[in-house]
Amino acid sequence: AKGDGRGLFRFFESEMDARMQARRALEVDLRRATEQHEFELYYQPQFNLGTGSVTGFEALLRWRHPDRGLVSPAEFIPLAEETGLILPIGEWVLAKACAEAAKWPSTVTVAVNLSPVQFRSAHVLRAVVSALSDSGLPAHRLELEITESVLLMETESTLALLNQLHILGVRISMDDFGTGYSSLGYLQKFRFDKIKIDREFIKGICEDEKSLAIIKAVTGLSASMGIATTAEGVETQAQLSRVKAEGCTEVQGFLTGRPMAARDAMALLQAPSRV
Ligand code: C2E
Ligand code: CA
Ligand code: CA
Ligand code: CA
Repeated sequence: AKGDGRGLFRFFESEMDARMQARRALEVDLRRATEQHEFELYYQPQFNLGTGSVTGFEALLRWRHPDRGLVSPAEFIPLAEETGLILPIGEWVLAKACAEAAKWPSTVTVAVNLSPVQFRSAHVLRAVVSALSDSGLPAHRLELEITESVLLMETESTLALLNQLHILGVRISMDDFGTGYSSLGYLQKFRFDKIKIDREFIKGICEDEKSLAIIKAVTGLSASMGIATTAEGVETQAQLSRVKAEGCTEVQGFLTGRPMAARDAMALLQAPSRV
């Protein structure tokens, strides 16, 4: 039995080694990608549920890997955060998204995801200011999406930074609402412009009473505070009718539009589709 244990241990050890090596290889790759700008932004449309027209797009990062093709952010954002590479990558995302949005009609916004790591450095304020001034995009057409984990850091400096961004005129959205901790408390600490209800709840909206109850609570609360709500990840017509009935103000999901290349986003705006 003792021998078996050692064998098992060795197995875990080599497993760990393999994982460390894969991680290092990915890191080398990611550094090269950052230097050589192997990234692209895709844009997913957001529709106003009252008027049915496009209000904006969320910019979603893609890595055009020379051998692996299009790599999803879920695969490399965590490592980019650990290594700090998210700072130059995030700066590129802001600049690129603002430059693209500056070509759109003046009512259309662009939403950019910010990592908590970007938030920990005062750097983000500078990156936002230069993205806006370089592109000429008016601040109110830029939305920054942050998750509850940013507020979990809960320092005075985080709130100060959020307020400075607000003063610039950019909009601040709370992303993935409901998946973190004590969400409601955060609404009192900071005045968000928009709440994005996580796909997890939308998925359950037609089947499970708890998801529906949560959505009712969030839309009710948001409406009373004058905050817009986006239903994320709507995939079916039934879900769409339901979120509309519950008073969500916007929808973003595969049903109404998948993330698309910049030129397709532009084409959509030129021949506007309605939901
Ligand atoms: P997220 O911010 O919650 O973005 C929404 C994700 O849900 C996107 O995945 C989008 O393609 C996907 N989605 C949208 N509608 C539907 C739907 O109806 N069904 C399903 N199954 N999925 C849907 P994506 O593009 O793979 O991005 C994953 C996550 O990576 C994002 O989640 C965000 O947290 C992160 N991310 C993406 N771009 C950036 C970026 O530029 N910076 C940072 N820091 N994070 C990013
Ligand atoms: Ca987001
Ligand atoms: Ca989200
Ligand atoms: Ca998410």
